[in-house]
Amino acid sequence: MNSKPRTAIVTGSTSGIGLAIARRFAAEGCNVVFNSFSDTAEDHAVADKAARETGAKTLYVQADMSKGDQCRGLVAKAMEAFGSVDILVNNAGVQHVAAVEDFPPAKWDQIIAINLTSAFHTSAAAIPLMKAAGGGRIINIASAHGLVASPFKSAYVSAKHGIMGLTKTTALEVAQSGITCNAICPGYVLTPLVEAQIPDQMKAHDMDRETVIRDVMLDKQPTKEFVTVEQIAATAWFLCSADAAQINGTHISVDGGWTAE
Ligand code: NAD
Repeated sequence: MNSKPRTAIVTGSTSGIGLAIARRFAAEGCNVVFNSFSDTAEDHAVADKAARETGAKTLYVQADMSKGDQCRGLVAKAMEAFGSVDILVNNAGVQHVAAVEDFPPAKWDQIIAINLTSAFHTSAAAIPLMKAAGGGRIINIASAHGLVASPFKSAYVSAKHGIMGLTKTTALEVAQSGITCNAICPGYVLTPLVEAQIPDQMKAHDMDRETVIRDVMLDKQPTKEFVTVEQIAATAWFLCSADAAQINGTHISVDGGWTAE
């Protein structure tokens, strides 16, 4: 390919699924904007390493996805650095596990802000740029919890159901602009986010680690295997292809059959 590289923003891409997507996009020749809320040497090193490994241009931009102005600023900085925003992956997400009656209100607000409202802000900033360029791709990393619920995850399930609605609405609005907007709904992927839930789940269910993994987490996943971050990255890259141009306003489940039940 000798066309101009596409520029991709992946929110929350210093770890887990976002990191795998950002690395895959760099390997495919995209300019990639990495992001997280912190601004450490390690954060910048993640983007630099991907550039060294792939030869792609990468940039680390600190922006807190719980703050609307910083979400919009992330898109502006990507545009300033690379001259286009062709792909936006709304991936940043956090989790908290507690019963509704014990759920800290500040945690609720934080989860809704990072897992749902950030995608509104980044999409609002990116869509005019994509429209002006004649096309683009918006991919929202939802979850099986965008389709079904589990106990003790009220804020997360609400945010993920919300992002399914945002995905459909955005898709309808951009359908004639060469832009698609879709969601990916992973089941359990073994990332730091999932690792961090294990102690809370152990407490909530009064179980040991192995029992939580087998009976709570992979209990839902008929394959009894965790999804890999590379499988999510490959699905995201497919949604960026020309072959996926008519996939719009829907989701792809990568959950080992969880939501088939
Ligand atoms: P992770 O904890 O490994 O990575 C989350 C990333 O988001 C990190 O880079 C973190 O720094 C960043 N982040 C957190 N708060 C942020 C903020 N305020 N501003 C900017 N960045 C922030 O998590 P993960 O498991 O890779 O999850 C990524 C996405 O995939 C999330 O939206 C999550 O809900 C979704 N998901 C994960 C699973 C799973 O099993 N891991 C399943 C379904 C959906």
